[in-house]
Amino acid sequence: MLTFQPGALRAVTHLIARHMGSDEIEATEVADHLLRANLAGHDSHGVGMLPAYVRLLGLGLLVPNQTAETVLDAGALLVIDAKRGYGQKMAGDAVRRAIAKAKEHGACVLAFRNSAHIGRIGTYAELAISHGCAFTSFVNVADNHPQQATFGAAEARLGTNPFTCGVPGPNGEPMVLDMATTAIAAGKARVAYNKGIPVPENALIDADGNPTTDPTGFMRDKTGALKSFGLHKGGGLAIMCEIMTTAVAGGQGLHSPSKGGTLNSMLATIIDLSKIGDPAQIEATVAASRAYIKSAKPAAGVSEVLTPGEPERRAAAHRNAHGIEVDETTWGDIKAAALSVGVTEAEFAQASGANA
Ligand code: NAD
Repeated sequence: MLTFQPGALRAVTHLIARHMGSDEIEATEVADHLLRANLAGHDSHGVGMLPAYVRLLGLGLLVPNQTAETVLDAGALLVIDAKRGYGQKMAGDAVRRAIAKAKEHGACVLAFRNSAHIGRIGTYAELAISHGCAFTSFVNVADNHPQQATFGAAEARLGTNPFTCGVPGPNGEPMVLDMATTAIAAGKARVAYNKGIPVPENALIDADGNPTTDPTGFMRDKTGALKSFGLHKGGGLAIMCEIMTTAVAGGQGLHSPSKGGTLNSMLATIIDLSKIGDPAQIEATVAASRAYIKSAKPAAGVSEVLTPGEPERRAAAHRNAHGIEVDETTWGDIKAAALSVGVTEAEFAQASGANA
């Protein structure tokens, strides 16, 4: 394993994004987003995504500096088509606009369509939270081969379709549930494959529909599937993510022909807490509820009951202090991607050593 200061991962990402054609603002947003995912402990959605983004750029399936189309801007409704724009910038801009509309109307429903991969969804929840808003979103993944086998299925029909919900809490400690509806996120299978380690039990099936912990077939041959979490309930939530983002938000679904890219669509609801109630009281209720939940006796083998968002905050504190580990395979892939878009060895080495 290699260990990097956060500033190095930000610098390398910014460098690659600039060479991919992004302007300064977009490259900065992509770099901040990917670093934040690594800091939160979600290496699946951090700098390890860069080789995939470079590949999609080469195929014309990720468009830097895209101008999103406003399909509808009517009161509390905002419909945006991102037209395969660089996802972190497209989704960040859309959520910022939706927050402004929530400040005006009390709430905003954002239907956000057809963006290149938007990364860690929790980042958008945290953005809304930083403006005193609650955030809920359904997201789907399309334009790729299906990766999720829903309850009762022996093969995949959906993407990892994440569901996310966040509410501000006191002392900068919000409650943020941010999860793939598969037992593990697909990027975690990639991380396990690159490290040469198995995935957890009951997360994956092979090409014949049989349980496996070996991610090789899933990663290398694109066979098999990740199982939905939680039996029919997780599978049902995954299906509703697909329906809310396609039928309701108008994004592409996995039932449509694929070009081999990654398209995310999102149906998000943003509520301005100062309009619906007293923000201080809402935070106090979050704190009281959290304390009560955490007061439960831990189950056997568990040291502490945690609530959504706590693992990410702890990971960020640790990684900010001790650096971020990246496996050598992933780092080699990132370097190859960088060189393929014209970054020089010297530029890559300099950015890799950045501390700021
Ligand atoms: P995860 O399983 O690590 O965590 C899911 C949630 O459970 C988090 O909110 C976390 O705070 C909470 N949690 C974790 N351990 C806990 C514990 N012991 N007690 C209480 N709560 C706990 O996350 P994941 O499902 O692997 O998803 C990883 C990331 O992948 C997410 O950020 C998600 O947005 C992202 N994702 C993105 C896409 C996309 O297409 N853009 C698709 C799927 C997933």
